[in-house]
Amino acid sequence: MGRRGHRRRRARPDQPPRRHRVQAAAAAQRRSRQALDDLPRKGRHRRGRTRRGRHRPRRAGHPRPDRRRPLPLRRPRPLARARRGERAAPHRGGRGLKPTAPLREAHAHIAPYGRSMSMLDLSRCSSIGELLDALERHASSLEGDAWALGHGLRVEGLSERRWPTQQEMLGASGGRECVLWLFDHHALVATGAPLRAAGIDKHAADPEGGLVDRDPSGEPTGVVYEKAAKLVWSIVPEPGPEQIRLDIVTALEKFASMGFAEVHDLLSQPDAIDALLDLHETGELDRIGVEVRLFAPIDDVRTILGRFGDRIDRAATAGRLRLAGTKLFADGTLNGRTALMLADYADPIPEHPRGMAVASTRRIYESIRTSEAIGLPLATHAIGDGAVRAVLDAIEELRPQTPGFRIEHAELIDAADIPRFARLGVVCSVQPCHLLTDIEVLRRLLPNRLHRVLPLADLLGAGLQPGRTLLFGSDAPIVRPDPQDSIDAATLRRRPGMPESEAIAPAQAIDEATAWACFARG
Ligand SMILES: [Zn+2]
Repeated sequence: MGRRGHRRRRARPDQPPRRHRVQAAAAAQRRSRQALDDLPRKGRHRRGRTRRGRHRPRRAGHPRPDRRRPLPLRRPRPLARARRGERAAPHRGGRGLKPTAPLREAHAHIAPYGRSMSMLDLSRCSSIGELLDALERHASSLEGDAWALGHGLRVEGLSERRWPTQQEMLGASGGRECVLWLFDHHALVATGAPLRAAGIDKHAADPEGGLVDRDPSGEPTGVVYEKAAKLVWSIVPEPGPEQIRLDIVTALEKFASMGFAEVHDLLSQPDAIDALLDLHETGELDRIGVEVRLFAPIDDVRTILGRFGDRIDRAATAGRLRLAGTKLFADGTLNGRTALMLADYADPIPEHPRGMAVASTRRIYESIRTSEAIGLPLATHAIGDGAVRAVLDAIEELRPQTPGFRIEHAELIDAADIPRFARLGVVCSVQPCHLLTDIEVLRRLLPNRLHRVLPLADLLGAGLQPGRTLLFGSDAPIVRPDPQDSIDAATLRRRPGMPESEAIAPAQAIDEATAWACFARG
């Protein structure tokens, strides 16, 4: 593995021209679909489930359980049941200031957050050894030939600062196949079978929009980025409808227990929308007491309206569930060094010194037009200041009339773009809590741009209003959705307990009451 295991070999001199790579990628995708279709049921493993009290490691020659048996459903964890009357009750009020208004989580992924609670949580691992120990414990609790699925891996947080190897993972899991997500869900590491099923091997070119880490012989190491990661994850069977409902209930009860009365779901997939509509129609959303705002993928929104339009209209009338917008990705992530910046990273991906535009300018324009034509605002993922500017440029040019167009994340914003938010009526939806974990990576990757990180004071000074046009969220399951984390980050600009000298852009700190107001429902 290269330094920190981040070497990419996309620009291999022996690689075919891009045109051929596109064709090869399409062929690889066809192969992967075919491979999936060809897989016997045993290859299309059931989703790993922990069944408490049953420790049944798989042994060679041990008869496998009947795979046609339906999936054991995971029960939601017991959670404090927040009743509507308790909604306004403050939770942890930080250093004394307690919010009285109901809270809004403006950026979360509800079903994936619920699902993540049943996966191996790697967020607290600080070394490869700890990670492998956790993997071994988790793998031994799985049934049959279920794959070990993990999330929250933070390569930068491991003392070795590298990914686990396939051999290490297979050793720890007792030969069980593994798929472990990087915490930002834009990269993962997988063992051989998931990669092969996704059509990723020595001979296939990287899928379009994705990167495959390879050893010097061209063999994939198991680490894949962006579209290649999504391709591998697509091989993992989706949970069934009943499990999705349980995942959503688990997630929403958790949000309710933290004081949230409204949660925005920033990439609502059709299966999750179907499940949420069911939960609304059966009164479950009323019982939990959380309102949900859906943001449908821009490419799927017309299909979603065609399939669920009537039910969505009925739900919106009742007020508990509403289609509130569409979603587009304009760039990658900070930790993946794929967030699109105006200046070079200090330690860039060689082929992408300023990160990657995941959406072309033309695609941003088309998405704005599509969303405007439907009458919904577009929420665009733009983490780097380059992506933020590209989206603002497009909005300025097209001037959509639908209110509520949003930029999600905006972790860096150039000074010149600050006044454009209020002037163009663009909502800025940020997750200050990410600062708590990104401090080191920000210092390392963007040492000359730290003063532009989460410029909250500038945005408010330029006219954005807390809770109305400046919104706070967490991006759960990327990080936990405890609102206190964002309050700490917005007010301290560092992790609590860190010396003040470690603060990132301390001039951008805002006071605690204003920070809570960014969580308040407008
Ligand atoms: Zn997100």
